[in-house]
Amino acid sequence: MRKCPCGHDRRSPEVQEVPEYSLWSMFLISFGISATPTKVEFECTKCWKKFDSLSPEELKTYS
Ligand SMILES: [Zn+2]
Repeated sequence: MRKCPCGHDRRSPEVQEVPEYSLWSMFLISFGISATPTKVEFECTKCWKKFDSLSPEELKTYS
Protein backbone atom coordinates (compact mmCIF):
# COMPACT_ATOMS: atom_id res chain seq x y z
CA MET A 1 0.00 0.00 0.00
CA ARG A 2 1.32 3.43 -0.92
CA LYS A 3 2.01 6.05 1.70
CA CYS A 4 2.37 9.81 1.67
CA PRO A 5 5.65 11.47 2.68
CA CYS A 6 4.54 11.73 6.33
CA GLY A 7 3.56 8.07 6.50
CA HIS A 8 -0.22 7.89 6.16
CA ASP A 9 -1.96 5.39 3.93
CA ARG A 10 -5.48 5.10 2.46
CA ARG A 11 -6.95 3.88 5.74
CA SER A 12 -5.56 6.67 7.90
CA PRO A 13 -8.14 9.11 9.28
CA GLU A 14 -5.87 11.95 8.10
CA VAL A 15 -6.38 10.85 4.52
CA GLN A 16 -9.39 11.96 2.51
CA GLU A 17 -10.78 10.69 -0.75
CA VAL A 18 -10.89 13.27 -3.53
CA PRO A 19 -13.27 12.16 -6.27
CA GLU A 20 -13.09 13.72 -9.70
CA TYR A 21 -16.19 13.77 -11.89
CA SER A 22 -16.70 14.27 -15.57
CA LEU A 23 -19.01 17.09 -16.69
CA TRP A 24 -21.74 14.58 -17.43
CA SER A 25 -21.46 13.08 -13.93
CA MET A 26 -21.60 16.54 -12.35
CA PHE A 27 -24.76 17.16 -14.34
CA LEU A 28 -26.33 13.95 -12.96
CA ILE A 29 -25.21 14.76 -9.42
CA SER A 30 -26.79 18.22 -9.63
CA PHE A 31 -30.10 16.40 -10.16
CA GLY A 32 -29.49 14.15 -7.20
CA ILE A 33 -28.54 11.14 -9.29
CA SER A 34 -25.48 9.29 -8.09
CA ALA A 35 -22.63 8.90 -10.55
CA THR A 36 -19.34 7.10 -10.48
CA PRO A 37 -16.32 9.38 -10.39
CA THR A 38 -13.81 9.13 -13.22
CA LYS A 39 -11.01 9.18 -10.70
CA VAL A 40 -10.59 9.00 -6.94
CA GLU A 41 -7.37 10.23 -5.40
CA PHE A 42 -6.19 9.93 -1.84
CA GLU A 43 -4.93 13.11 -0.27
CA CYS A 44 -3.25 13.51 3.09
CA THR A 45 -4.65 16.40 5.11
CA LYS A 46 -1.33 16.78 6.95
CA CYS A 47 1.09 17.23 4.07
CA TRP A 48 -1.53 17.84 1.34
CA LYS A 49 0.05 15.37 -1.00
CA LYS A 50 -1.97 13.15 -3.30
CA PHE A 51 -0.16 9.88 -3.04
CA ASP A 52 -2.51 7.23 -4.36
CA SER A 53 -5.60 6.72 -6.49
CA LEU A 54 -8.15 4.00 -7.11
CA SER A 55 -7.48 1.56 -9.92
CA PRO A 56 -10.15 1.20 -12.65
CA GLU A 57 -11.26 -2.08 -11.02
CA GLU A 58 -11.69 -0.41 -7.65
CA LEU A 59 -13.57 2.48 -9.23
CA LYS A 60 -16.24 0.08 -10.46
CA THR A 61 -17.08 -0.90 -6.92
CA TYR A 62 -16.75 2.63 -5.54
CA SER A 63 -19.91 4.24 -4.27
ZN1 LIG B 1 1.02 13.10 4.69
